[in-house]
Amino acid sequence: MEELKIPESNNIKEFAIFKETIARIINGDLDSVKQGAYSFVYFDILHFKAINDIFTPVQGDKFLEYMQNSIRQIFPSTSLLHRFGSDRFILFTNCNKVEIEKLIKKYLKRIADYKLSYEIVSNIGIYITNRADITVDGMIDRAIIAHSFIKGSYSKKYNFYETSQRMQLLGEQEITGRMAEALASREFVVYFQPQFDHSNGSLVGAEALVRWIHPKRGLIPPNVFIPVFEKNGFITKLDFYVFEETCKFIKQCEEKNIPIVPISINICRNDIYQEGFVESLEKIREKYEVPVKLLRIEITEYAVVDGIKKVNEIISKLHSCGYIVEMDDFGSAYSSLNALKNINLDILKLDMKFLSDDGNNQNGAVILSSVVRMAKWLGFPVIAEGVEQKKQADYLLSIGCSYIQGYFYAKPMPADDFEKLLSSTSQSSTKPSMFVINSMKAGDFWNPDSLETLIFSNYVGGAAILDYRKGKVEVLRINRKYIQEIDQSLTEKKVLQTELTSLLDEENKQKFIEMLEKAIASDQEEECETWRLYDKTKKPLCIRSTVRLIGKSVDSYLFYVMIRNITPEKEALQEMLHRERLFRAAAEQLKIFYWEYDIKTKRMYPCFRCIQELHFPPVLENYPTSAIERGFLPIDVADFYKEVHQRLEDGEHYIEIDIPLTEKRELYRLRYTTEFDKNGKPVKAYGTAIKI
Ligand code: C2E
Ligand code: CA
Ligand code: CA
Repeated sequence: MEELKIPESNNIKEFAIFKETIARIINGDLDSVKQGAYSFVYFDILHFKAINDIFTPVQGDKFLEYMQNSIRQIFPSTSLLHRFGSDRFILFTNCNKVEIEKLIKKYLKRIADYKLSYEIVSNIGIYITNRADITVDGMIDRAIIAHSFIKGSYSKKYNFYETSQRMQLLGEQEITGRMAEALASREFVVYFQPQFDHSNGSLVGAEALVRWIHPKRGLIPPNVFIPVFEKNGFITKLDFYVFEETCKFIKQCEEKNIPIVPISINICRNDIYQEGFVESLEKIREKYEVPVKLLRIEITEYAVVDGIKKVNEIISKLHSCGYIVEMDDFGSAYSSLNALKNINLDILKLDMKFLSDDGNNQNGAVILSSVVRMAKWLGFPVIAEGVEQKKQADYLLSIGCSYIQGYFYAKPMPADDFEKLLSSTSQSSTKPSMFVINSMKAGDFWNPDSLETLIFSNYVGGAAILDYRKGKVEVLRINRKYIQEIDQSLTEKKVLQTELTSLLDEENKQKFIEMLEKAIASDQEEECETWRLYDKTKKPLCIRSTVRLIGKSVDSYLFYVMIRNITPEKEALQEMLHRERLFRAAAEQLKIFYWEYDIKTKRMYPCFRCIQELHFPPVLENYPTSAIERGFLPIDVADFYKEVHQRLEDGEHYIEIDIPLTEKRELYRLRYTTEFDKNGKPVKAYGTAIKI
């Protein structure tokens, strides 16, 4: 149990008094103790060090004060609280399981509400007293054990102590003492967790995950022993073993004529530093004659944080042998986005820890979608792992990530089960796409638990189900955001009652119908922009619709449509074109890019050349952050460029810098001239960029 000592307290005397006080209370109320009337709660903050690094120690301290106050305010005032130092607290309180769980949820919400442009998560371990024969130390210990099972998890934020958890906690010495023997007697067993394409339900790959089937303690999960093996170096032996077992498995499948998918193997940073590591893998692979395309290598992001050079060296060796290399746990180390562009990877594995347990966490969803988008800009396929719920999978699909690994589809399973899955999936490999409902009888749209309802509820913007029949388009269902997009003053009833093409003029109607017909023919997503007049007393709106066929019957088609009101952008474009006409002649001769920046609204209006050559939209909101996020500006100069903007806001009249721009990182000379209002406040800045 060595690794789970009660943390050292900053104030030993205070801690001793804390424990004595508890002992007195407990000894005076033993019956209640046995009946679970008291709880020990151990709190810490996930990656607190990172928070301190990213923000400032002052902000870190301010947050800790907030955390401590939250605990004091939320839990009964009779509770006793001790702080071990930093972000770790232990609370003793007169609450039973039901009461404490309620308060913990309240506390977690309070922590999540803390505004720090970064979601702060607290992990909590709880021990509810159930015996009178344990010392206070033993009770605190149990809260910490419960905590250790979820430490580092974004999705599971609190955990109650169970007796079996103590059993699973092998001591480090016990692990080290038995590891060689366990390997020799094949106590390590490789499980496989399948990966699916959520857009059509097909099996696309798997990950090999090791388990220790301990003769006395049963199945031990890897996070118990892998950290110890990483420390003592045994991990490399184990990783070779897992690699070999996987090769054997693939070979057996091929011999039995079972269709197989590529399998990913985990390697850790110790492996990377082994002399001749890749050569040794190759020897094993050749021994079993496994085609290299059936094996993939996962490297964790933490290995990269250590040193990019060594990692790139290994990756290029693996590449030259033909392996596909995946970045595991992408997003878990906070330096990730920066490091990424310098590494030669093929696939990113994104951990769903980014999304909190209820899946409704806005912050998490935003981070997730921006990471997926980022990965797309960089040209990486993404596999999302840890996907537990259908709505998470649907959401991921809606933001363009269809490869999914997680309990929602399947847990890691023994080789036999995986073999069965491989055989059975091959037989039904032409599974219909999940989005296709073949019969109009499927009244699923009205069923609150159906897939469609889930797509509707949360993440997407305005969405609707359309029925298209004989040139007429009826709106069957809309979500709340649909109304927000078009016109707040409309009612759902009104929208559903209005036949859609009646809002369009002849030209726009034709455009819309053409899109639907195209979507029927291609079975793909199709898009168009149409002007609609929802209210004759108001201006028409320009709506971008993206549709997909989801069902058909004899004479009608069912579509899923997402809409976006792009009227402001269109108007801005029109205004821009007007300005453009005035300037174009001059600019044509100069070969420059230019734009206007509104300091107050942070809007950027690019010139026609920016739109044509750099594919800028006609107006960029929240500039320059949006441009950085879209990849227009290399990340390493982002801070520098933000500083320039700060200087503009601070009222500098003229700025000239040389800066690499666009993906090609070409060097530009960039100039800003600022315009001021009559009070001397900066209002606009005019930027130009000339390639040098
Ligand atoms: P990992 O590589 O990130 O593996 C994914 C982990 O997430 C696995 O845990 C898997 O069981 C779990 N997981 C998958 N889907 C879900 C889900 O929907 N919900 C939740 N809560 N969890 C899910 P596992 O098998 O316990 O492995 C833990 C870690 O141990 C792995 O994390 C990996 O870092 C390490 N590991 C496992 N096998 C090996 C190995 O052979 N070699 C090395 N070096 N490390 C390994
Ligand atoms: Ca992995
Ligand atoms: Ca992972």
